[in-house]
Amino acid sequence: MLYDPLKSTGVTPDLPRPDSYWASTHTPASYAPPDSDIHTRFAVIGAGYTGLSAALELAESGEDVTVVDAHDIGFGCAGRNGGFVLKGTGRYSLSAIAEKWNTDIALRMRDEFNYAVDLLKSRVKQYAIDCDMQAGPYLKIAHNAKSAITLETAQKHNRSTFDSDETFVNADALRDHLNIQHAFGGVIQPGLALHPLKLVDGYASACHQRGVRIVTHTPITGISDTGGKFQLHTDSHKISAEKLIIASNAYTPKVLHPCVDKRQFPVQSSIIVTAPLTEAQRNATGLNRPMMMMDTRMMKYYYRVLPDGRLLFGGRGAVSASERGDAASRLRLEKAMQYSFPALHNISTEYFWNGWVSVALDNLPRIMTDKERKIGYAMGYCGSGVSFAALAGKRLAQKMLGTPVDTRLPVYHDHLPEYPFSGMRRIALRALYAWAKVAE
Ligand SMILES: Cc1cc2nc3c(=O)[nH]c(=O)nc-3n(C[C@H](O)[C@H](O)[C@H](O)COP(=O)(O)OP(=O)(O)OC[C@H]3O[C@@H](n4cnc5c(N)ncnc54)[C@H](O)[C@@H]3O)c2cc1C
Repeated sequence: MLYDPLKSTGVTPDLPRPDSYWASTHTPASYAPPDSDIHTRFAVIGAGYTGLSAALELAESGEDVTVVDAHDIGFGCAGRNGGFVLKGTGRYSLSAIAEKWNTDIALRMRDEFNYAVDLLKSRVKQYAIDCDMQAGPYLKIAHNAKSAITLETAQKHNRSTFDSDETFVNADALRDHLNIQHAFGGVIQPGLALHPLKLVDGYASACHQRGVRIVTHTPITGISDTGGKFQLHTDSHKISAEKLIIASNAYTPKVLHPCVDKRQFPVQSSIIVTAPLTEAQRNATGLNRPMMMMDTRMMKYYYRVLPDGRLLFGGRGAVSASERGDAASRLRLEKAMQYSFPALHNISTEYFWNGWVSVALDNLPRIMTDKERKIGYAMGYCGSGVSFAALAGKRLAQKMLGTPVDTRLPVYHDHLPEYPFSGMRRIALRALYAWAKVAE
């Protein structure tokens, strides 16, 4: 049984857990469904990074909070992602933000992105979350000569304008770091990666310690607002709340609430994990220590060396959920990995799984509430949320509590735009994938 947000009615508790490397190396704590009706001041829909982080912030401020998930904690992207801790979100680089808005906004966004990583690290420390943090080089790799020039120009601009710690290396110098084929240069900076399922488990445990009620296996099938209170529709007990946070991201059902309906587009990303590399394979590829890589293709490949010496390799998945699409995605990833690292031509793929990424129409997530601060949401991270989604949850909680956040920043300023012709989104995505194949 496969979940497809645009075809299924919503996440249900009987869906299988992803057969991921993360799930095979960690079993998160389990939380029960409700055993009686719940009235809470804040209800949060979704137990991923956004929802749990919002709940933690609210609980740390002394609020009564209930987090509800349709499945287990981390059933969505939070338990399935690549574990890259990125300084950014959405699809805008800092230069692109400066171009669309201005340099001052880009500098403020940079500070916010840096703060997201600091927040992650400080919570990991404060709540003693063991999530296999790995520091190592993060390489952005040019897949053609034109991209190498673009990377080099951007690196100079990022250093002078944004004080970044990036270094450009040409194709020869890149091979000192990595024996990768069909690469034309790259940018290197310090990187960080982790075990995403352990992280979400740690956030849930921190919430639990702070008195947050976490209920799982309880899909919210509808929301009504009666007498100043939200009634969350479930198949079992009644849940009512004075305030509501929607943190269901790409896993949001097609129809949940007008503030999120048709305002994001779920797009699949797929991951393979190989057997541990042999010493010969490590020597031949240079994949012999913690390192993270992402290329410059329109449909990017991202890969990293895991603590036990396996290679995680990810990229775009199928347009809709199907076993045939999965088989094609797995093969595409294997071929792409072998194209870059021919020495891995006979390595076995031991894990394959997918997840749904939430894409905003204008490539920028939003963290917003209504005017009365009764309902809020955060989503649309476009595949970059390990650090930012947790900051988004914190900022959303602050907004709901009336604590000022910097609304000059576009992510906090206005609502997610609605997709026009939302029924056509997949036709457009198919066309984009076909075009990207030709363009690359
Ligand atoms: C394959 C893949 C690789 C990625 N790699 C990276 C990476 O390396 N680095 C990075 O920064 N980002 C990455 N991302 C993106 C990142 O994982 C997400 O941005 C982030 O996890 C979003 O967290 P979230 O809490 O908002 O949403 P989610 O973790 O998706 O949580 C949403 C939750 O809502 C629940 N839910 C949905 N509907 C309902 C309902 N009706 N009732 C109750 N509960 C409901 C779901 O069960 C789910 O648990 C990746 C994503 C994918 C899919």
